[in-house]
Amino acid sequence: MEEIVSLCKRRGFIYQGSDVYGGLAGTWDYGPLGTTLKRNIMDLWWNTFVQDREDMFGVDAAILMNQKVWQASGHVDTFTDPLVECSSCEGRFRADKLDDPNKCPACGKTGTFGEARQFNMMFKTLVGPADEMPSSKKISDTEIEVTTSYDTFRIDMTTGLPTRGRKDANPAISYLRPETAQGIFTNYKNVVDSFYPDLPFGIAQQGKAFRNEISPRDFVFRSREFEQMEVEYFVHPDKWEEAFEQWRKDIHEFLENIGLPSDKIHELEVPENDRAHYSKRTIDFEFDYPIGREELLGLAYRTDFDLGNIQRVSGKTMEYTIKGTNERFIPHVIEPSFGVERAIMAVLTSAYTEDEVNGEKRIYLKFPQHLAPVKVAVSPLLKNKPELVSKAREVYTMLKKELGNVMWDDNGNIGKRYRRQDEIGTPYCVVIDFDTLEDNAVTVRDRDTTEQTRVAITELVDSVR
Ligand code: ATP
Repeated sequence: MEEIVSLCKRRGFIYQGSDVYGGLAGTWDYGPLGTTLKRNIMDLWWNTFVQDREDMFGVDAAILMNQKVWQASGHVDTFTDPLVECSSCEGRFRADKLDDPNKCPACGKTGTFGEARQFNMMFKTLVGPADEMPSSKKISDTEIEVTTSYDTFRIDMTTGLPTRGRKDANPAISYLRPETAQGIFTNYKNVVDSFYPDLPFGIAQQGKAFRNEISPRDFVFRSREFEQMEVEYFVHPDKWEEAFEQWRKDIHEFLENIGLPSDKIHELEVPENDRAHYSKRTIDFEFDYPIGREELLGLAYRTDFDLGNIQRVSGKTMEYTIKGTNERFIPHVIEPSFGVERAIMAVLTSAYTEDEVNGEKRIYLKFPQHLAPVKVAVSPLLKNKPELVSKAREVYTMLKKELGNVMWDDNGNIGKRYRRQDEIGTPYCVVIDFDTLEDNAVTVRDRDTTEQTRVAITELVDSVR
């Protein structure tokens, strides 16, 4: 894991967020190569599950949503993790992730944890010029009403204690969404009204999600800001099982497509008491990461929980009428929920390879070609020979036009260039030498085998595509 983290930083894949100021825990910035790798994975997902299908619709909803969304969905009340605090070092930890539930992992003391309390993981924020300063007004001889940025409550003036529960939440409160799913559910009716698709159909969304994780850790695996790719697949209530099975297969196919070995993927049927509040069945797809076997993505049967709640709270019908009939019902939902960061970590882990070339250790990333951030690197054998540089530029321009992500690399000697390109997972290096000027052919070096072959420039695009 440490090797991968260090390679990611060294070669421009992923940096610690706000690194220059000492970082911000749980946040990560993607460098030039990481951005492309991430985009390649997200585009492949989008093409597979949206573009290439007839039954899918894409949306891109706002991150900030009306607070009622999160009240209706149950997130305000139940999107929590158990938090314990060590009375000795004041460290705070997620109780269900401790190796030893009685031992503080920071100071090593035992018996220093109090009772676990439920900590809500949503980031709260205020929309508009809401007042940051608490204010208070006298309500009666014994009570004052206090209004803070986040809520309003009353206090007994003699005891100083609240006299009643918190009143309606401040309407300026919003949350950074903890999942992209709700942006889909809230647009279900819009999509039905615009397109009236036959059931089953799905709505997909990719985008940022935010969770105030108690202990962000393991590189990007558990971040506070991350990206999700989610589908809500709407089905007839009697047909959820077949849709669930089909998604299960489609997920395996996608994971194979991003280069994950099938023997490292495991399905975990989540028992009822561990399932999210909305789910009647969940399979966690786990992956053997260097940090152990952990959740890569989830497949859940969310019943009509979300649409039913929206109907109840908004007062607007979420029912679907089968065309040409009077059959009306709230569709049920199958949800495959992918986390981009966890996919990236699995792809990096699977691609990371060490071998020996000419007696020396070599590190390379064996990305599937369609995910590699750089498809081909082009070099003149010597950078101080204008005739080689100009021919190499010609080849570079031609390849870039055809393949897009092509890199110009003339730093250091050829051996160093190969090593550098291996480390970033470039499948092919193309070198222009003095023979090229005579025979119009170049040397193509293969990342995985390190074999070098001579290829005519006229055939180059096809041979490296
Ligand atoms: P975990 O149990 O690991 O906290 P979860 O079951 O809460 O995950 P879901 O709510 O099912 O996760 O979220 C769907 C997907 O979003 C997860 O399978 C994962 O890929 C991704 N995800 C969730 N939380 C994070 C996070 N903090 N950092 C990165 N990805 C995440």
